[in-house]
Amino acid sequence: NAKLTSADPDIAAQIENEIIRQHEGLEMIASENFVSRAVLEAAGTVFTNKYAEGYPGKRYYGGCEFADVVENIARDRAKQLFGAEHVNVQPHSGSQANAAAYMALLSPGDCVLGLDLAHGGHLTHGHKLNFSGKLYRIVGYQVRKDTETVDYDELEALAVREKPKMIIGGGSAYPRQFDFARMREIADKVGAYLVVDMAHFAGLVAGGAHPSPVPHAHVVTTTTHKTLRGPRSGLILCKQEFAAAVDRSVFPGQQGGPLMHVVAAKAVAFKEALDPQFAGYARQVVANAKVLAEALAAEGYRIISGGTDTHLMLVDVFQKGILGSEAENALGEAGITVNKNAIPYDTNPPMKPSGIRIGTPALTTRGMKEVEMRVIAGWIAQALDRRGDAGALKKIRKDVGELAEQFPLYGWLREPSSV
Ligand code: PLP
Repeated sequence: NAKLTSADPDIAAQIENEIIRQHEGLEMIASENFVSRAVLEAAGTVFTNKYAEGYPGKRYYGGCEFADVVENIARDRAKQLFGAEHVNVQPHSGSQANAAAYMALLSPGDCVLGLDLAHGGHLTHGHKLNFSGKLYRIVGYQVRKDTETVDYDELEALAVREKPKMIIGGGSAYPRQFDFARMREIADKVGAYLVVDMAHFAGLVAGGAHPSPVPHAHVVTTTTHKTLRGPRSGLILCKQEFAAAVDRSVFPGQQGGPLMHVVAAKAVAFKEALDPQFAGYARQVVANAKVLAEALAAEGYRIISGGTDTHLMLVDVFQKGILGSEAENALGEAGITVNKNAIPYDTNPPMKPSGIRIGTPALTTRGMKEVEMRVIAGWIAQALDRRGDAGALKKIRKDVGELAEQFPLYGWLREPSSV
């Protein structure tokens, strides 16, 4: 029963390094966040030992009485949070939630319309190397070149032409809101199912800072670890008529036993998101993103689609002669973590794209507001301008560290006695 530090000092040291890295830097990857102590605790419990294949009351293993209580609580909270008729809290990840949703609604070979990866979609919306692109006939829809947003008349024309069985909305790098009502109209017109993958903006929906796809879509999928601020995992919400098909597709269709420690952590996160304070968090995430986008635009950067309605923005750095990969590296040196990202109609390759994606969920969790966003925009612009100057980047990193210190993260974890 040795503690991790003595049982495995190699791994313990890297966990320690990661705690420090998360504390000292500015985490601006749009898909990341910081979970609460309670969520972290629940994820690190003895439920990791428990097999619970099946669903509450109908398990394939004994000893599930407490697992049943946990899963029922998680389900009830998720239903209440999103006003859903049915939920499945077992998907291990967003990708598995999507795989199960496809499996519940489609047969291999069926046609699906999904937003192109290069236009903000996700791998699971039809990339050729992903299960979605291999098993289904994917037709990608795109954003318009002039507005850089989805044109629903074009989507409708595409749907009429291709007669898909399913249309999937949502994406990983789309800074604007989707028109769920219009997407449902289009789906109904061609007899398709509407699935919305709200992985990125689920927390904004939970906090009332973004319209909900739940009333419009037949099935909604999400991750739980982005704006929703739970453990790394997935979730499916659907109308009652799809409940049995969705449940069968998750287990035994896609998975064996659920990760009960993660289901427990999801339940805790849903409780937090049901608290009225979470609405304030969600509003602040969007307010911070708007201010950051405006401040970067004032620094001369082109923001894709002219701004953001959500927690993320795409910045065209190539317009200033910088590759997204160079920008990611320079900002990394300066202690600001972002990711390189393709922009719509990108002329550069995926590993050296023209843009970067920036998000505000994690810094908002640390308590940062509009004032800090303006300061950070200035640092981003400086770091990009002086990307070849190691001394300048080091100086910004020092300022970043001082700001981070004012918004402590996991202080209780950084006490030497807690390790
Ligand atoms: N769907 C969307 C829109 C995403 O952005 C992501 C992850 O980035 C996923 C699904 C997949 O989630 P996971 O990484 O948990 O498989």
